[in-house]
Amino acid sequence: MKFSIKLVLSTMIVLALALGFSGFYFVNYVFETSLDREVGQSLDESSILSFAFETAALNVPLKYSVLPDSVVEEIASKLEMGGQGGGRLLRIADEEKNVLYTSGGFTADEGLLPQTDEHTKSYRVIRAQDSFYVHTCVSINALNRILYLETMKDVTGVFTERAMGFSLYRKVTVVILLTGTVIMLFIASLLTKPIRLLTKATREMAAGDYTYRARQISRDELGQLTGDFNRMANALEENICKLEEEIEAREEFMGAFAHELKTPLTAIIGYADMLRSHKLDEEKSIMSANYIYTEGKRLEAMSFRLLDIIVAKQDEAQMQETQVGELFAYLREMFAEKKDMDIRFTHEDAVVRMEANLIKTVLVNLIDNACKASETSAVSEAGVVEVSGQTVDGGYRIAVRDYGIGIPEAEQSKIVKAFYMVDKSRARSKNGAGLGLALCAEILKIHHSRLQIESKEGEGSCFSFILAHSGGMD
Ligand code: ADP
Repeated sequence: MKFSIKLVLSTMIVLALALGFSGFYFVNYVFETSLDREVGQSLDESSILSFAFETAALNVPLKYSVLPDSVVEEIASKLEMGGQGGGRLLRIADEEKNVLYTSGGFTADEGLLPQTDEHTKSYRVIRAQDSFYVHTCVSINALNRILYLETMKDVTGVFTERAMGFSLYRKVTVVILLTGTVIMLFIASLLTKPIRLLTKATREMAAGDYTYRARQISRDELGQLTGDFNRMANALEENICKLEEEIEAREEFMGAFAHELKTPLTAIIGYADMLRSHKLDEEKSIMSANYIYTEGKRLEAMSFRLLDIIVAKQDEAQMQETQVGELFAYLREMFAEKKDMDIRFTHEDAVVRMEANLIKTVLVNLIDNACKASETSAVSEAGVVEVSGQTVDGGYRIAVRDYGIGIPEAEQSKIVKAFYMVDKSRARSKNGAGLGLALCAEILKIHHSRLQIESKEGEGSCFSFILAHSGGMD
């Protein structure tokens, strides 16, 4: 059952119970009051009748010392006539409670007589056929006799009024409930609108539309829920986008990896097949073996690089306070042999938190790339590579600058992807596999840093990164 219908039903049940109880209480209260009034009047009337009887008995001739039954009947019939609208209903009984006189139409049984004595008045409400009466009984003290006078007063009107009251109240209740249901349906529909909007958003998202958001139309708890739902949807969409990007990157990686494997393997298999199936002269045999060797070496280098990347991804860096001077001394020594390039090292001394071996790998890669890019450049400063280190806002910046061929702007964001090479044949001829910068990026990631690339095609490039400064300067 719909929530709005449940809301309407429960409200209507409460309203029906409230109306029912209040109606019953109200109508009954009016009835009880009217009945009490009628009972009071009946008792007053029977007192007046008994007084009238006693007064009439005073006129009995002196010859009687006790009021005779015939006089009782005579007085009773006179009293009976005196009633409004054609007579009273009364009954007279003697001291033994034997009935002496009964009006026509007096139908009450004698149940009240035993409960009454000469000092008490009694009454009850009785039903005779379809009518209701107040039945009273009082004693009369007349001429040495104790008699009992019973009266019956018709109070059917009070009961009829009660029945009419209930019937009217039922009708009013039905009308109120019907109108209330219509109004409540409208209110419930308004109140549950945020829930319907949320349900729609949930369904749209479940069907794959992660951009769909629920409209927030109130500021109450449901409005807050909608806001929270939308925030959750934003986070979900972001994560899904990240996941999709990761999957795409992985697929790209697998495709590039397969391609990079295929090229050297095809050469190796081709030359190996030639060696085993043809009798080649010595020169050709050496040439074939050479191809197999160099391509094999390339594969080996590639697998080492891949291993390095995997290790760097899983590594939890063992950060140590490192003197930048030591790092630069190592690099200077390492590239001292490279006589064809002018590699200039300048640095500000500082102590920086890093895993020195990994940062050395990054810088060796960057300097290697800078040298390769400079080899074919026509720029006058080509052949100069500047490696610098200086303290900047937020850390220590190390940069490798070359005046080589540069990188086209469109390629700059792609070169850190695994296996990406701007000029594949040129890179392969220099034993490149497009993995060096990917490795650098992974290493810098575990140092909470990233590679910044500034480059202009034909003018050279500058690769830099910032490491957290430990603060202590030497
Ligand atoms: P590779 O093993 O091919 O050097 P890298 O990941 O180190 O792989 O570099 C990816 C590509 O980025 C290179 O093939 C090259 O085209 C380009 N590249 C890297 N560094 C430079 C640079 N300093 N100047 C120009 N191009 C560069």
